[in-house]
Amino acid sequence: MKALVYVAPNKLEYRDEPDPVPEAGEVLVRVKASGICGSDMHAYFGHDERRPAPLILGHEVSGEVVSGERQGQRVVVNPLVTCGYCDDCLSGRSNLCRQRQIISMEPRQGAFSELLRMPECNLIDIPDEMSYLHAALTEPVSTGMHAVLEAARASRRPLAESRVLVLGGGAIGIAVALILNSHGCRNIRLGETNGLRRKTVQAAQVCDVYDPINDPAPEADSWDIVIDAVGGAVTRDAASHAVKPGGAIVHIGLMDNSGGLDVRKLTLQEVAFIGCYTYTMVDVRATVKALHSGALGPLDWVEQRSLSEGASAFVDLANGDTPAAKIVLTPDY
Ligand SMILES: [Zn+2]
Ligand SMILES: [Zn+2]
Repeated sequence: MKALVYVAPNKLEYRDEPDPVPEAGEVLVRVKASGICGSDMHAYFGHDERRPAPLILGHEVSGEVVSGERQGQRVVVNPLVTCGYCDDCLSGRSNLCRQRQIISMEPRQGAFSELLRMPECNLIDIPDEMSYLHAALTEPVSTGMHAVLEAARASRRPLAESRVLVLGGGAIGIAVALILNSHGCRNIRLGETNGLRRKTVQAAQVCDVYDPINDPAPEADSWDIVIDAVGGAVTRDAASHAVKPGGAIVHIGLMDNSGGLDVRKLTLQEVAFIGCYTYTMVDVRATVKALHSGALGPLDWVEQRSLSEGASAFVDLANGDTPAAKIVLTPDY
């Protein structure tokens, strides 16, 4: 099969690789669309020691089953492979499974390729009319879905009555804004430093967009929920200032590990701080429905490129040279 292989920091090679061989309980999926994630960029820069070269990256996948009983079915992939029988898996929190693996990290190759082996229970059927391109948005949007549901639980106020600040306007930030809007939330502000991306978010018409570098900071102590889709010391500092007493900060980004959080304010004002990692199968299924129903709008913030030209997409993303909140690669069949 053809694959786009990460061979060294800042270097990808489009080349032939051996076809994957499915193990017990697994099937082969012919990849139709595979999105580039921030974590793929992180690995590409050589910053992720869990993803050493050579490796096939990519975990936001839709495709067609080409082996086993479900052969011919159009599916979206839940890339998080979990054991299914530990306490966490059985209590509906499979994202915390101690044995979890994610594709694009040893021992599993990712999906910037033509074929992928996957446990059958990680495949969700998609409707015939749903495009593979939109289906490939399921993974990042599921992350946003999980974050919004956690935020609603912690803030003890209906989303429709909440003021929400979103930090970061990449795929997860924009997904969070769209999901909040679909829950009736009309008071959303989103901060994004890249001007091209700000235009893309603005075009979705579900939130007020600002530039965190040049515009005034959002009002202090006045946001019921702050969703940090960047996860750096700078954004944690902004979140600490903005959140209102009794409010909630939901932290999804993984930019750096410490600094920025005002723990004294969190304590004195009973602010909830919630770490949020990926999604469960329930979130993934809800996301497929939401994407397909049109509740999240026309999804025109995604750009399609061919897998063979994938290396240039990484360069454009590294330079901030694209307005797309998400670039999805499609193999050249
Ligand atoms: Zn991702
Ligand atoms: Zn488990």
